Amino acid sequence: MNGKSTLDDWIAGKLGIAPQAMTYNDIEAYQLAKLKETMIFARQHALFYRRHLAGIDVDKIHNKADLDSLPLTEQWALRNEPTEFLCIGLDKISRVLTLQTSGTTGVSKKIFFSEADMELTTDFFRWGMANLTRPGDNVLILMPGERPGSIGDLLTKALARFGCKAWCEWPPADSNLISRMILNRKINVIVGIPAWVRALALYWQKNMQGCRHHLKAILLSADRSGFVVRKTLRQIWNCPVFDHYGSSEMGYGGGVECGVRQGYHLREADLLFEIIDPVSGRRLGRDQVGEVVFSTLTREGMPLIRYRTGDLASISSQRCSCGSVLPVMSAIQGRVTDLIFIDGKALTALELDEVLLDFKEIADYSAYYDTGSRRFSIKATLCGNYPDIKDLMDKVKMRLGNLTVITYLLGTKGSLAVEIDRAVLALPGHMQKRTVFVEKTEEAR
Ligand SMILES: [Zn+2]
Repeated sequence: MNGKSTLDDWIAGKLGIAPQAMTYNDIEAYQLAKLKETMIFARQHALFYRRHLAGIDVDKIHNKADLDSLPLTEQWALRNEPTEFLCIGLDKISRVLTLQTSGTTGVSKKIFFSEADMELTTDFFRWGMANLTRPGDNVLILMPGERPGSIGDLLTKALARFGCKAWCEWPPADSNLISRMILNRKINVIVGIPAWVRALALYWQKNMQGCRHHLKAILLSADRSGFVVRKTLRQIWNCPVFDHYGSSEMGYGGGVECGVRQGYHLREADLLFEIIDPVSGRRLGRDQVGEVVFSTLTREGMPLIRYRTGDLASISSQRCSCGSVLPVMSAIQGRVTDLIFIDGKALTALELDEVLLDFKEIADYSAYYDTGSRRFSIKATLCGNYPDIKDLMDKVKMRLGNLTVITYLLGTKGSLAVEIDRAVLALPGHMQKRTVFVEKTEEAR
């Protein structure tokens, strides 16, 4: 499975170009034309964009560098007045997604999709899944799928078009039941949220290792995965682990790895991605890590233009060895809001994942930094019973101490504490991305 990304053929089909003749310039020209159409459409029909894009001369956009002159769309704007983003009547909306925001504000985001918008996602899923599935495969989806238009529902439809059967289980809290299901239904591909797939894998390792059952691929989605989580899954199930990047605002799907599995090829027929400096808002070049911003190119219900995702990643200047003309986006490093700065030195959630989730005893964790006392602390929950918690805490502390930022902290009158809660397997029952840094205290007065 080192195959070329299937998205090249999909995009070439949309552009009406033979796949072998398509260049990235063709894709960029298509994207800019579609973006201009979207801007004109959104300005005509959405109250928000009528104000937001007032005075912008669409004809002055000649290349991607010109996008710097366009305003960004902030998440709070979508939260405040979601209906101001609507471009069609509510009677033509087939699916409304309500996203509870983490924290205590109680303000939720609403995303509206028409039937045609959902069809675009289903079509992308059908092509994206062809990177890892073949007709006849049996796929288990550890994501919500009961409601029409939910991610699991669209994925099931996409897989059916491709000759695969799929079943959704959500929330997948009973690992024993799910393991039996894998055997009984001859599941050979699993798609799911990293934290849940990891919990299932650890259960499998402990209780099901005697079963001769072969998985051919795993696809992780809806949250960052990281190297150690993928390594754990590869070791337990001995199969390739693919990653998908997406969000509800993107219409679930954003990008998926090819057989090389070194980053995402993006859904460039429907979305235009950029990387910006999260502070200045300026566009960044290839290989520079910044905030992911996207514009929808084909959506009618609720188009979004230069929407800030809050995710941190870079787009590589190197061509992928699979032979695709599509650039590769790096793994998501974390969220802009999920960074802790210690004297200006950033610590990302992904760096902490790589240390903490390497311990198979740990299910999940939160991190706290008190800027006044310079105390950095971790609170972790266990995956199962672990007899010697003190020993585990010492090991975790030692590994954390090797992180550059923590080494610096300990050398400059800071402290590190690790607490482990015996509460077992506390994983979120919702689809939000994991937030690691739940509390930051302000400078002591
Ligand atoms: Zn590739």
